[in-house]
Amino acid sequence: MTRTTPPRPVDVEAVFPALARHRRTTTRLHPRQGTAKPEESSVAGPLLWPADEPWPVCTAVHPKGTGHLLTDVRLRRRIQDEARGREFTVEERRLLDGMARGTHVPELRDEDPLPLLAVAQLHTRDVPDLVGPEGHDLLQVFWCPFEAHGPERTIDVRLRWRRSADVGAVLAPQPEPPVAGREECVPTSCVVHPEQVVEHEYLGLLGEELQEEIAEWEEGLLDEDEDDAYDSSSPASYATYEEYEAAMAAARAQEPEEIDYMSDLSIAPGWKVGGFASWHLTDPRPVDCATCGTPMPPLLTVARVECDGASRSWLPVEDRDAADDPRVIDPVGVYLGRGLMRVHTCPADPDHPHRLSFQ
Ligand SMILES: [Zn+2]
Ligand SMILES: [Zn+2]
Repeated sequence: MTRTTPPRPVDVEAVFPALARHRRTTTRLHPRQGTAKPEESSVAGPLLWPADEPWPVCTAVHPKGTGHLLTDVRLRRRIQDEARGREFTVEERRLLDGMARGTHVPELRDEDPLPLLAVAQLHTRDVPDLVGPEGHDLLQVFWCPFEAHGPERTIDVRLRWRRSADVGAVLAPQPEPPVAGREECVPTSCVVHPEQVVEHEYLGLLGEELQEEIAEWEEGLLDEDEDDAYDSSSPASYATYEEYEAAMAAARAQEPEEIDYMSDLSIAPGWKVGGFASWHLTDPRPVDCATCGTPMPPLLTVARVECDGASRSWLPVEDRDAADDPRVIDPVGVYLGRGLMRVHTCPADPDHPHRLSFQ
């Protein structure tokens, strides 16, 4: 099934023509639980990985056998999924209680190479905003699921671009680390439903004048809402409670949805490729290439939720009846930073090292 973002509630470029210069496309991935084939785009594999090529490993020195067993993480998610809307059975409770954080693979030493986790595989044919090195049509994303790397103690993200046509026999089975430092570093296998949408630059990165114009416009919308509320032609009293209820329901149905630039017109929520980065938790921070200084846009955004209360207008049409289903809102189960992790790449030279940013 495809996923369709509803049209934005306002054509914001018609209101602010200057925003046309701050437009970018992004491809929302719309991951949903399921197992893809190795030749398909997916989250959490399997990957189109050549049988004769070594799987990438983490060689950084950090504890590798302590944390949560991947098998436990998956079993817990499956039990929670199946038990939705009812109590856990005794057997489920017993299984859940048996899962603990601890040292699960004591023989694994801190300096041993650890297979990386397959996080995503994206084809340029599926994801129009995916642009990599000349001639490469497939991006494979891995990470080491321990927040133990670099000065910021983060997961270690690795990118691998390749030509899909060059891959013959596919590696099977595919390695993975037995343990993750934190459960929310483990993505659940998902198929993806890529959809290209338009975004506009983060509010705080627009010119001051434009920011002020947008703020004034938003205030004007709120005033209009209030005027509507006072300009009520309904009678002030009702003969019956049922009449009152019916009048209130009609008023609620007419109430315009509150619109604001940040929530509805700027940046799409959820996993996506390309587009803009949101800086709602910190002030905007430049992400420039450490090699050549070029500003680096986000290539991949990994999000805790596909949409929340504020970004509800981005919920796909197909999911409207499932807006509280965790398989729609949080299909992947990954929670990095305070909800968002971005991989930025250098537009001048894709071989320059990528950088991460968090919100
Ligand atoms: Zn590592
Ligand atoms: Zn660069």
